[in-house]
Amino acid sequence: MICEIIAAGSEMLTPHRQDTNSLWLTGRLNDLGVSVAFKTITGDKLDHLTQAAQIALARTDIVIFSGGLGPTEDDLTREAVAAALGLGLERSAELIADLYKRFAARRMKMPENNIRQADVIAGAVVLENKTGSASGQWLDTVYNGHRKIIILLPGPPKELMLVFNEQCVPRLAAVLPPRHIAKRVLRMALIPESQVDERTAPIYKKFRDVETTILAHPGEIQLHFECAKPTLEEAQARVDLLAGKIEDEMGDAIFSSQNAPLEEVVLLLLGMKQQTLATAESCTGGMIAERLTSISGSSRSFLGGAVVYSNELKTEFAGVPEELIAQHGAVSKQVAAALADGIRKRTGASLGVSVTGIAGPSGGTEEKPVGLVYIGLSDGRQTEVKKLNLTGGRERIRFWASQHALEMLRLKLLV
Ligand code: ATP
Ligand code: MG
Repeated sequence: MICEIIAAGSEMLTPHRQDTNSLWLTGRLNDLGVSVAFKTITGDKLDHLTQAAQIALARTDIVIFSGGLGPTEDDLTREAVAAALGLGLERSAELIADLYKRFAARRMKMPENNIRQADVIAGAVVLENKTGSASGQWLDTVYNGHRKIIILLPGPPKELMLVFNEQCVPRLAAVLPPRHIAKRVLRMALIPESQVDERTAPIYKKFRDVETTILAHPGEIQLHFECAKPTLEEAQARVDLLAGKIEDEMGDAIFSSQNAPLEEVVLLLLGMKQQTLATAESCTGGMIAERLTSISGSSRSFLGGAVVYSNELKTEFAGVPEELIAQHGAVSKQVAAALADGIRKRTGASLGVSVTGIAGPSGGTEEKPVGLVYIGLSDGRQTEVKKLNLTGGRERIRFWASQHALEMLRLKLLV
């Protein structure tokens, strides 16, 4: 279904006032699956407004009028729409009573011309306006053999929004064809956004009915897909087809195609491979353990860990030889390896992970600058160490270090 919005008001044909109601209405209509095909602005002239109404009725299914429902001479929307449709106006006794009540409540005498606000197009439903005197109108009718929905809304933006949200959205939803939305999220760690876009754009651009957005999070890129169809099955089939093609392209870089966080995926893999994990963290201060334990059920695979900030505790808790620290320094490949292997042995876990680095902003040297981080991963047969040169502030370095450690674990568990 397509829609035309007609904004009535001579002030919007001057350089001083903009029609903003139609922008807001367009957003709401799009949410309902309705496209706005035309927008018209008319001055407060009966014949111009009538012509605009006739043109809109001839070319669209839904015609929405904004403004011109007030009591003054130049508020002519009711008359123009009735004339365009060849329908009469009926003065509603109920609305007259309401208007008198409104004025009485303010201890004012109602001016004679306000009665016009009680005029209702024959067959229209009155849309109550709780915040103003101009009621809206809803008309579901046949014009030249075609079904038309015609909506009259008050001009003041707050009134228009309230009347539309409360009274038109439910009515439109009941009239419009059913619309179901399916969504999918693919998540990737530690990969540049530009690379993701370069590789996936040729695929997702072919799916014009699926809306694709790339969102960057710290250490993570997410691809969001959304599709609207008459049935959920159709919508789901489209996003699943696209997600499948993207998965073929990106392969193991995707850590979740079900919107699961990296730590949850790592725990899932640990469980599947019947492995257990322990951590020895220096500069991340327990962040890996915190992320893992935020997932319910983590105790099945995560045994625990130690925050080994001082050299002494690296030795005491993870069995790192004092000489090794003296020889290579706490932030070194050798100590990262010994930490990972040591914590694994001490805890009886099948896998040990370690992090040692310089999170800054102080503590860096020329040889070992801020952002230098080593991640160790030991499985009892071999110990891998990854050297990172991270950038940014302390929090960023710490989070990215934890992200690298989890991603390293994931990739190991995949093979
Ligand atoms: P009222 O009872 O207030 O006269 P109305 O339905 O006759 O209601 P208008 O007189 O057309 O509405 O507009 C009232 C005020 O609402 C205008 O002065 C203007 O500030 C605002 N307005 C009207 N139309 C629009 C529009 N399309 N976009 C933004 N603001 C609008
Ligand atoms: Mg007015």
